[in-house]
Amino acid sequence: MGTITMNTPNTLKRVLMGPGPSDVDPRVLEALSRPTIGHLDPAFLEVLNEVRELLQYTFQTGNEMTFAVSGTGSAGMETCVVNLIEPGDSMLVCINGVFGKRMTDVAERCGADTSTVEIDWGKAFEPGQIADALKKKPAKVVGIVHAETSTGVCQPLEEISKIVHDSGALLLVDAVTSLGGMNVDVDGLKIDACYSGTQKCLSCPPGLAPVTFNDAALNVIENRKTKVRSWYLDVSMIRKYWGSERLYHHTAPINMNYALLEALKMVREEGLEQRWARHLANHKTLKAGLSAVGIEYVPEAGFELPMLNAVSIPAGVDDAAVRKQLLDEFNIEIGGGLGAFKGKAWRIGLMGSASTLSNVMLFLAALEKCLADQGVKFERGASIAAATEQAGAK
Ligand SMILES: *Cc1c(COP(=O)(O)O)cnc(C)c1O
Repeated sequence: MGTITMNTPNTLKRVLMGPGPSDVDPRVLEALSRPTIGHLDPAFLEVLNEVRELLQYTFQTGNEMTFAVSGTGSAGMETCVVNLIEPGDSMLVCINGVFGKRMTDVAERCGADTSTVEIDWGKAFEPGQIADALKKKPAKVVGIVHAETSTGVCQPLEEISKIVHDSGALLLVDAVTSLGGMNVDVDGLKIDACYSGTQKCLSCPPGLAPVTFNDAALNVIENRKTKVRSWYLDVSMIRKYWGSERLYHHTAPINMNYALLEALKMVREEGLEQRWARHLANHKTLKAGLSAVGIEYVPEAGFELPMLNAVSIPAGVDDAAVRKQLLDEFNIEIGGGLGAFKGKAWRIGLMGSASTLSNVMLFLAALEKCLADQGVKFERGASIAAATEQAGAK
C-alpha cells in the first residue's frame, strides 16, 4: 500500500480565467456547505421547485420539463441525445470545434445514424451550410453548439432554427458556455432541447447540468418505441422525481442543488440583460487591451464570444511557460488551445463572477510582464492604456 499523507486541505485561491470552471462567489460556497437533508424532504423539494423556476428564467422558457441533470455539462449533452435518439434515427451534428465533435461521438454511441457538417475551426456556420446538409440527408435531430469554447466562436441560431424546423427536425443546442453570459432565448428561438453546465457563466462549482425540453421534444420522448439506452439519464423516469409524483429515481445531489439555487438567485438579482451587458463590456475592454499589444482573436471578426476570448499566441512565445508564469506569479489560470489549436491559442475566460473590470486589468498587467520576460517587443503599458480608454475613462 502507498503512503497515506494527511495533507492540509487545499486552500489555494486562484483567479479562474480559463474555459471553466469560473470563480465561485462566497455566497454559493456558503450554500454548498449547508446541512444535507433528505432528497424527499419537503424543504428540499421546495429547493428543486425554485431551481426549476430560476432555470426557466435563465433559459427564457416556459418549458415545464426544465431541471438539473446530476452530472456536468457533458451529462446534459448525453441526456438530450440519448432521450431524443433511438437506434437508427438520423442525427446531423454541426462541427466547428471540440464540442461538436464530442456531440458526434455521443450520437454515435446512442446508435444514431449520424451525419456531420464540418467547417474550419474559428468560423461560424452559415445557415445555407445546414440547409444543404439537410437537403442531402434529412435528420430527426440537428445538434449545434451555441458558444464553442474550444474556438471562442459564437454561433447565431435564428435562421438555422428556421431551416431546421422547416425540414421537420428538432433543434438541440449546446449552451454550456453561453447560458448566463449571453442571450440564450430558448422559447424565442424555438429551441427544442437545450443543455448547459453550472461551472461556466453560472459560476457554480461543476456538478449539475441544467437542461430543458419543449413539448415537441417531450412528444418524441413519450412516443419512443424503445427504452432510453441509459437508465441514469432516462428523462421519462427523472421527470417523475422533478414532477409532482416525486418518485425516487436516484438521490439528487442535495448540496449542489443548494449551490445552483444560490447561483441562479444571483443571476436573477443582477438581471439577465445586465449580466449579458457586463460580459460584453468586459470582453470589449480585454479585447482593446490585447489589440494594443498586437494579440489577435481566433474567431472571424464579429463572431467573438463575450465570455471566452480565444486569441493567437504571438510568434516566438512559449505557450506553456507563459501559462505557468501566470499561475505561479499571479495565481491566474487561463486555458491553452484544444485540438487543432494546441500550442497556438490561449483561451481567456471572463465567465460569470470572473467577468470583472478588475480581472481584465489584472490579467493585462500580468500578461505584459510575461510577454516582456519572453522578450516580446511592445510598448510597455499599452494594453492598460487602451483598456482604460475602452472602459470609459475621462
Ligand atoms: C465545458 C463544455 C462542455 C462540457 O461540459 P463539462 O462540464 O466539462 O462536462 C460541453 N460543451 C461546451 C460548449 C462546453 O464549453
